[in-house]
Amino acid sequence: MSMTLHKDALWDKTLEIISGKVGESAFELWFRPIKLIQIKEKIAYLEIPNRFFREWIEDNYPTIIQETIEGLAELQLGLKFRIAGKEDEALKKIDTRLENRRTKLASRGIYLNPKHTFDSFVVGPSNQFAHAAAKRVAENPGSAYNPLFIYGGVGLGKTHLMNAVGNMIVDRSASISVYYVSSEQFVNEVVTAMRHERMGEFKDKYRNVDVLLVDDIQFIAGKTATQEEFFHTFNDLYGKQKQIIISSDRPPIDISDITDRMRSRFSMGLIADIQAPEVETKVAILYKKAAADRLKIPEDVVYFIATRVKSNIRELEGCLIKLGAHASLVGAPVDLSLAKAVLKDLIADDDKPISVDGVQKAICEFFGLKLHDLKARRRTREISNARQIAMYITKHLTQMSLSEIGAAFGGKDHATVIYACRQVAEKRTGDETLNKTIENIMKRLKQ
Ligand code: ADP
Ligand code: MG
Repeated sequence: MSMTLHKDALWDKTLEIISGKVGESAFELWFRPIKLIQIKEKIAYLEIPNRFFREWIEDNYPTIIQETIEGLAELQLGLKFRIAGKEDEALKKIDTRLENRRTKLASRGIYLNPKHTFDSFVVGPSNQFAHAAAKRVAENPGSAYNPLFIYGGVGLGKTHLMNAVGNMIVDRSASISVYYVSSEQFVNEVVTAMRHERMGEFKDKYRNVDVLLVDDIQFIAGKTATQEEFFHTFNDLYGKQKQIIISSDRPPIDISDITDRMRSRFSMGLIADIQAPEVETKVAILYKKAAADRLKIPEDVVYFIATRVKSNIRELEGCLIKLGAHASLVGAPVDLSLAKAVLKDLIADDDKPISVDGVQKAICEFFGLKLHDLKARRRTREISNARQIAMYITKHLTQMSLSEIGAAFGGKDHATVIYACRQVAEKRTGDETLNKTIENIMKRLKQ
């Protein structure tokens, strides 16, 4: 197919598939304006209107373009973004430097985000304990606190801090091996190794690292074989005084479905939490981020965003990115009225209660369905998929019982709702795009 599909046709098809996955408003805003310029030497060159597009896509759907286009073209492709028009030279230099660092580290098997350093991390009361602990570990890997267990809510800086430790260690010693892995990836690696009878290789790889960073460990809950493997990896590294850092959205004691011996290993070193940031910390983060993007943003806008976005720092940055993209597209300076208009769907009104009607409406808008489809018996794959997601979200965001939820979806029984919730929970852990979709819909509902 690849050779026969013309570049423009390939891109049209790519966009069509993406639009079905990300929802209409995100698609129109962030994907529609992108052009595929050429494919050369296994790299697809994409033209975007300004730098904020790349940031938004990397934050929200980091793999969707590549996966879709690779699937259609049936070949492996790298992606490169090019900004239409003139680009700020200083920023371009910084980007190139970061990209080079990323590539260089990756060639050594080190997958760290070069942007996530201690320098770019703003310290405030909410995160100073975790920050101090991370810094000590970076300065004395294997001997300060082992393991270091960092926990906190979504978007509060756990991944950033772990990467900062990794980056600092790598900078201080060229020979040390640092391995960063999400727990989902760890699960996949265990499964693949077992399936292809390559457990030996797997063990060699993990037992030869000097520093192991495992992000979002809560996802190994309930996965027995993976836990078993992780347990042995942990013991082996720990015995050799190799540094282990683990992050989670909750403290070890609250991770259900892991063995007690695993839980007690997590608690052997230091447990550090990150709390929701105070307004001052949010303000400092916004200024730092704006400066890094050369975005001029007045004080009232900074305070507007900092007070309206409750805690998630990724959302805080998301506001700035959207504002930056908009201001740069229309060539207008950022002011409060522009901010209010552009950010109205990102920013919370107050803590309004969420109803099943609201969920159904959001799902219908997102997937382009009619309300009666969602409640009908008829089930195409699209509809039943959307319905399952709607049930799952309703279960999570409202106080309704399973039978009440079933009734609200055209008289389904409570077993159907349980099944739907399990299905979605399961798929969510293995499908990053679906996970983001659900996060985005939930986020929108809470606003
Ligand atoms: P988590 O892993 O806890 O979900 P991340 O580490 O991915 O959160 O952080 C979300 C975003 O917020 C990232 O872009 C990160 O760089 C940024 N961020 C979080 N905390 C800080 C901070 N203290 N200073 C600067 N940026 C931060
Ligand atoms: Mg994270």
